[in-house]
Amino acid sequence: MSELQLKDLYDGFRNPDVIKALAKAITDEAKNLKKPLNIMEVCGGHTHTIMKYGLKQLLPQNIDFIHGPGCPVCIMPKERIDHAIALAQMEDTILLTLGDMIRVPGSKSSLAVERANGCDIRALYSPLDAIQIALDNPDKKVVFFAIGFETTTPMTAALLEQVEKQGIANLYFHINHVLVPPAVDAIMADGQAKINAFIGPAHVSVISGAKIYQPLPEKYGAPVVVSGFEPIDVLQSILMIVRQKNEERCEMEIQYSRSVTLEGNIKAQVMIAKFMEPREHFRWRGIGDMPDSALVLREQYTAYDAEKIFADILPTEPIDDHKLCICGTILKGLAKPNDCQVFGTACTPNTPMGSCMVSSEGACNAYYRYGEI
Ligand code: SF4
Ligand code: SF4
Repeated sequence: MSELQLKDLYDGFRNPDVIKALAKAITDEAKNLKKPLNIMEVCGGHTHTIMKYGLKQLLPQNIDFIHGPGCPVCIMPKERIDHAIALAQMEDTILLTLGDMIRVPGSKSSLAVERANGCDIRALYSPLDAIQIALDNPDKKVVFFAIGFETTTPMTAALLEQVEKQGIANLYFHINHVLVPPAVDAIMADGQAKINAFIGPAHVSVISGAKIYQPLPEKYGAPVVVSGFEPIDVLQSILMIVRQKNEERCEMEIQYSRSVTLEGNIKAQVMIAKFMEPREHFRWRGIGDMPDSALVLREQYTAYDAEKIFADILPTEPIDDHKLCICGTILKGLAKPNDCQVFGTACTPNTPMGSCMVSSEGACNAYYRYGEI
């Protein structure tokens, strides 16, 4: 028997015949829709699946997608990036973060530029790698600039647990973990975006449970289907939404029942709650300040909190985006990337002016890469 390969795990979920059959089922079902359907895919991962596999082109005209605020790089306001830069510029410091964050512009610079200027800035594959870096550099301050939605927060909590257990004294945390439900709630409460249903990100619900979306259908009359990321997952979720509409139901349903439960991963939730609590205020790029929309270290862990320990060097002014960049409007579900006048000209993945082009999960990045498919 041949060895199992990674591709064997997802191949079935990208089968062209199944994709076509699902698209046809949606098209048939959508003929009975009373009104056009605007579906917000909350997460940038879904945006990429929709664009990469040309799902929009397979669907009837009365179904459209609105891209949501579900990308932790895209929603990071410039002042937080300026914090990371200020921390990296301290003497004898190593700044650690994840992925695309390094390239996102702050108000005057980016971590990538500062790294080229000599700051010790490193991108981690796993937050737990921070332990070895801290142990190998006892004379340095190691600062972990933690980013991500509910999906990556457990890794930061696991790192904190190890730091506490091993008594590591030179590792500090700048916490930027954000929460999906308050952002969705703010977009709906604002009332400008015309959204009739949601595709919810499955990886968030693997941790937090699908229960986090339960209030939305009742509050806003919009069904939510918690969906996986493969094209067949997304199409099946759309079919579930169209059926709900035709049957005049409005519920939270789970498409990704392979891993998502109502309650989620309780162990991870307990570990997160041990170290972090909701933060009074956090300003999201484009959406603005939202109470309880992010996390902060609990008071008893102040000794690890870079934001408190190095407070006197951190800039506090909120900073607006480049005036040509409409990332904020995109993040609120009010525009699409090609509505931006510099999309694909002054702004490309190699010359990004805004976070939605930098992030590999960003809507502008997806439109640029796959828009012509
Ligand atoms: S194309 Fe560039 S400038 Fe325009 S919204 Fe997207 S990231 Fe911002
Ligand atoms: S890309 Fe920009 S628009 Fe989309 S998910 Fe990330 S934030 Fe949202």
